[in-house]
Amino acid sequence: MTKAILVLNAGSSSLKFSVYELASGEHLHLLANGQIEGIPGAPHFKVTDHDGNILLEERWDADVKMDHAYSLKQLSGFLRSRYQALDLLGVGHRVVHGGARYAAPVRVNAAIMTELESFIPMAPLHQPHNLAAIRAVSAINPTVPQVACFDTAFHSTQEPLAQLFGLPYAYFERGVRRYGFHGLSYEYVAAAMRQQQPEIAAGKVVIAHLGNGASMCAVHNGKSVASSMGFTALDGLLMGTRSGDLDPGVVLYLLQHEGLDAQQIEDLLYKRSGLLGLSGISSDMRVLLGNSEPRAKLAVDYFIRRISLELGALAASMQGIDALVFTAGIGENSAEIRRRVCLEAAWLGIRVDDAANDAGKSCISSADSSCSAWLIATNEELMIARHTLAELTR
Ligand code: ADP
Repeated sequence: MTKAILVLNAGSSSLKFSVYELASGEHLHLLANGQIEGIPGAPHFKVTDHDGNILLEERWDADVKMDHAYSLKQLSGFLRSRYQALDLLGVGHRVVHGGARYAAPVRVNAAIMTELESFIPMAPLHQPHNLAAIRAVSAINPTVPQVACFDTAFHSTQEPLAQLFGLPYAYFERGVRRYGFHGLSYEYVAAAMRQQQPEIAAGKVVIAHLGNGASMCAVHNGKSVASSMGFTALDGLLMGTRSGDLDPGVVLYLLQHEGLDAQQIEDLLYKRSGLLGLSGISSDMRVLLGNSEPRAKLAVDYFIRRISLELGALAASMQGIDALVFTAGIGENSAEIRRRVCLEAAWLGIRVDDAANDAGKSCISSADSSCSAWLIATNEELMIARHTLAELTR
């Protein structure tokens, strides 16, 4: 029997999955990964193997009633037919919010599910889907252990000072505080940094996770000290469709004078702002970089500006910076964005090595930089698989 761990990352319109084989010596080897997109809508199911070869690609009728339960049934059917001898040890889930309580992954049960549901208002666009996937797995396989891995957990090491808002303290006690997100990505990158560059990893590092969702984290000796994201995944950097940092007075103005209700403001801030809202063209950085319209340029310029400002703030939170690390879709793939961020950060001692940056090398700063710059590909799925295995073998 092949011992395996299934990793699920359930979003509003997609279910991403990875299957890891537990090879000898507790080594996790990726057997297959893929996604079911278009839930509900025009569903598309695609699975590739470790080397990117397509194992399965299907398009389903648009009128199929798609949800996570349906998607999981299809996925489970695929796994059974492809790997007859698969012994599923457990399922690891990306769960965006663990509140103030969960500083580590947890094996879920009914009581924990109820508590995780109470965090939905703090992550309304992610948490319900993460939990729906857990329920859907239970419905198919009630006995398989399931582990929730939180995007907030990595930041639990932050001092209360880094978690505060200037509201009456009672709100902090009621959970209105800065949590930070993308923790599984930061944890993976910090671990990779420790392996590759232990001396630098022991110092003051800012990691920039630049994807559709984007945030930055100050990491000192492997521990989170501060993050650009706060109470929800809206704060901080400009994102694909999310506004990032906003004067709270703007929300009041929209409510009181523009006639928007809470639902419309949620929609505006999560889905119609960011690169998409500013450019009026696209949320996709590739499209904007290839577009000569002034508003495309404005959106990219503001994206860079926000990164520079957060970089200054995060460096201040550690009283210095030894290294800047780029990761996620934009951070890993756009030499142009990395170059521009590094140029803006020249005052911190970063000198970009253009040849290394263009070639996508691991170290992208020149030898005369007092603060080095790096490119490390993130792997949140592998982080979840590691946590799930650790939780199951504890
Ligand atoms: P998610 O938050 O959905 O996981 P990703 O980490 O996959 O996002 O990042 C998606 C973003 O990465 C998109 O804005 C996409 O345009 C951008 N991206 C991917 N490849 C490139 C590239 N070569 N140049 C610029 N941006 C890129």
